[in-house]
Amino acid sequence: MGASSQTIFALSSGAVPSGVAVIRLSGPDVRDILARMVPAAVPPRHACLRKIRSRNGEVLDIGLVLFFPGPQSFTGEDVLEFHLHGGRAVVDAVYRELSSHDNLRQAAAGEFSRRAFDNGKLDLLEIEGLADLISAETEMQRRLAVEHSSGGLSAMYNSWADRLTRGRALIEAELDFPDEDDVPGSVSDQVWSDMSLLAREIQEHLKLGTAGEIIRDGFKVVIAGRPNAGKSSLMNALARRDIAIVTDIAGTTRDVLTADLDIDGFLVKLYDTAGLRETAEIVEREGIRRAYHAIGEADLLLYVEDSSVASSDEVVPNGAVLIGTKADLHRASLRRYDLCVSTETADGLDQLRRMIGELLRAKIPPHSLAIPTRARHNDSLTECIAAIDRSLSDRKRDLALRAEDLRSAGMALGRITGRVDVESLLDVIFGEFCIGK
Ligand code: GDP
Repeated sequence: MGASSQTIFALSSGAVPSGVAVIRLSGPDVRDILARMVPAAVPPRHACLRKIRSRNGEVLDIGLVLFFPGPQSFTGEDVLEFHLHGGRAVVDAVYRELSSHDNLRQAAAGEFSRRAFDNGKLDLLEIEGLADLISAETEMQRRLAVEHSSGGLSAMYNSWADRLTRGRALIEAELDFPDEDDVPGSVSDQVWSDMSLLAREIQEHLKLGTAGEIIRDGFKVVIAGRPNAGKSSLMNALARRDIAIVTDIAGTTRDVLTADLDIDGFLVKLYDTAGLRETAEIVEREGIRRAYHAIGEADLLLYVEDSSVASSDEVVPNGAVLIGTKADLHRASLRRYDLCVSTETADGLDQLRRMIGELLRAKIPPHSLAIPTRARHNDSLTECIAAIDRSLSDRKRDLALRAEDLRSAGMALGRITGRVDVESLLDVIFGEFCIGK
């Protein structure tokens, strides 16, 4: 915490040229810069059309000027925004002018957000949510990021942390005033039953982490099967682009190819893999090894089989959806498929998209998106549950030690929101941002 001594600035809008370019400043020199570059008065939090001048009085541009006096600003410091015409030379001229002032420098990546965190304007979950919001590409990523950046998940973790603190305080009070009323049904019994309930709630919440990862990182759908089964054709048809090379030569796809789809607002990562067969060919063998690895990582496996030549000896991996391809060839097949498709006629493709969407949605909680999204959230939640379980495991243990376990559980939650002990995480988290954020 504590005020930053330097004032930072950066282009906070997209790359120039653009209709409007926003240069944002934050720090102790903002008022001074405002007075020098914009001589006419600028009332706080009002958009004012003003001439923006160099120190020689030359007009650099005419644009909107916004002044947010701290602490009511994004960073908590004095913040100034120039909304300029988005020409390269305009932005360069204002940059040159700003750089010529003492104590002003260009912001490092994520520095505005870092200051917001240091000044208690946003916690770590909100910061991560903001990074996700800026990089969101699908509707569900946007919704998840809005929930996180606006403090939905933080509120939940804070209320759990408060429950732990309250529980610990009651136990410690009992330590301070022992033997007053040592009867069953006492305050401490209520605390322990609430803690056990809390551990179960957190456990349920932790299970939703899979959904968070699916929304944020994508639902992994792997297409696998024998050579020439029609995997690459299916990949191209679903992606509506020529990503994989299609030939009738077995063993064409040797690496794992990938395409991103948007199905019902969810990111779906589709993988085409090398055909599974015995081979002595070194490159193809490596491709097949990678295919098995991708199959192991899949959220959904589409096992494809050429329905016109299918033999019943093929072993379909457990849990896979069995797709019969080349349905247009109209041969009687031996197998019963979950779905038949043809990339020639597009038959079955819409059903397949729908099926992927349904299987995906089955893994997502229908209501709140206050769910964990990152491995670090899951790790800390697991740690928290373990500490609560420890506190409950042996009722004969010293109460002071059991209370100490509750404190560790609270610390684990505090690390997620950044209330405690997160110095080592900060560089990783703020490294996700680019300059101007
Ligand atoms: P992969 O080796 O499993 O990736 O199979 P490909 O997608 O490369 O297809 C193998 C051969 O089957 C190619 O000659 C494709 O043109 C053909 N093929 C793929 N899908 C269909 C289909 O739906 N109908 C017909 N008639 N041929 C197909």
